[in-house]
Amino acid sequence: MNQTRVIVVGGGIVGLATAYRLVTSRPGWTVTVIEKETSVAAHQTGNNSGVIHSGIYYKPGSLKARLCVQGSRDLVDFCRTHDVPHRICGKIVLATSPGELPGLEEIARRGRENGLEGLRWLEGAEIAAVEPNARGLRALWVPQTGIVDYTRVAERLADVLRDRGSDVRLGEKVIGIEIRPRGDVVVRTDRAEWTADRVVTCAGLHSDRVARMTDRDVAIRIVPFRGEYYKVRQERVEIVRGLIYPVPDPRFPFLGVHFTRMIDGGLEAGPNAVLALKREGYRKTDIDLNDLWETLTWPGFHAVARKYWKTGLGEYYRSFSKKAFTKALQRMVPEVREDDLMPGGAGVRAQASERNGALMDDFSFVEHGPVLHVCNAPSPAATASLAIGDVIANRVAGAQ
Ligand SMILES: Cc1cc2nc3c(=O)[nH]c(=O)nc-3n(C[C@H](O)[C@H](O)[C@H](O)COP(=O)(O)OP(=O)(O)OC[C@H]3O[C@@H](n4cnc5c(N)ncnc54)[C@H](O)[C@@H]3O)c2cc1C
Repeated sequence: MNQTRVIVVGGGIVGLATAYRLVTSRPGWTVTVIEKETSVAAHQTGNNSGVIHSGIYYKPGSLKARLCVQGSRDLVDFCRTHDVPHRICGKIVLATSPGELPGLEEIARRGRENGLEGLRWLEGAEIAAVEPNARGLRALWVPQTGIVDYTRVAERLADVLRDRGSDVRLGEKVIGIEIRPRGDVVVRTDRAEWTADRVVTCAGLHSDRVARMTDRDVAIRIVPFRGEYYKVRQERVEIVRGLIYPVPDPRFPFLGVHFTRMIDGGLEAGPNAVLALKREGYRKTDIDLNDLWETLTWPGFHAVARKYWKTGLGEYYRSFSKKAFTKALQRMVPEVREDDLMPGGAGVRAQASERNGALMDDFSFVEHGPVLHVCNAPSPAATASLAIGDVIANRVAGAQ
């Protein structure tokens, strides 16, 4: 059957990379991407830190570890081949208190186990040689980390798809998916009805809702966490040369506020992590009662709130107090001042939570006959997107 028709729901980087892998590995298949916004990369993909992660943090053997390491290489190859600006600049992970040293050692151990070469310990003056304004007890140098603009990557993926004859349909929202008894699938949108042999959904912040279109009992709920950034004033961007990350709290699935040099030369600080009251709400005041109701009525949310209330309060405080945000940054770079920081953008993370309140750590796919749902694709899924696309393309082909 070489006329297989595949529909990919979602024009973020995971959907586009999946479509790209399908089109390039399965000649003769027709692949259509359906995206509800009028441009690609409108949500997580276009509102993230722009970091090409190395794979250092993730549990050895996990999908995140394997697909991040592979995906970062594939992404750099893609950027080279398709002229997308990017830079492998390396980063430091910095311990600023004795209590963080075991966590830093554990990250180094994971990195080595995940196959990263060239990791190096930096002590005292060696830290200053890499980042003159950073202060800490010990740092880990990670040479593989890089920066890129993921909107540019997504746009190039969409261009390549169109050049190869695929349809990337924008401004069209999927409202229903029906698996017919003879095995084909009808995808209903607010504009039309499409028939496909296979469907892959990569709906980011709506992945649980789209998954429920074929599986009413899907046992996850997206809990949205907004992350806010500050931009460092242009005259002061030189206070940081590359990327400076804290040692993350291992109980929390986010990496902590960090400094990131952007591919356009700017410097950003953030993101924090506060519960978002709207899934696609980028301002503090954005609220959607339906989104909020779904979060609050999910049994897992109460367990999440109980477990993380202290961290959550700290994050909220920093969200409203620029002074507190600056203080968190000054732990790593005392040189940074409150008036160096100007409000930047924000992104909302799609973090899947299980019914028992566990925040799902690894990437997760759920298959329902000819439909595959990507249910959890948090960071580093932008870095890993082409490797995730490979896994999905193989699964979809294997399902024939
Ligand atoms: C603040 C922040 C910082 C991050 N930093 C990094 C980083 O530095 N490096 C990294 O690797 N990762 C990072 N990530 C994670 C990364 O951005 C995401 O893992 C990745 O973008 C997920 O891609 P996606 O395609 O699954 O989701 P999205 O980019 O959210 O795309 C999903 C798409 O599906 C569409 N959609 C939803 N429902 C429907 C429907 N019914 N019909 C049609 N279309 C629909 C949406 O409009 C959207 O465009 C960060 C994320 C955030 C939020």
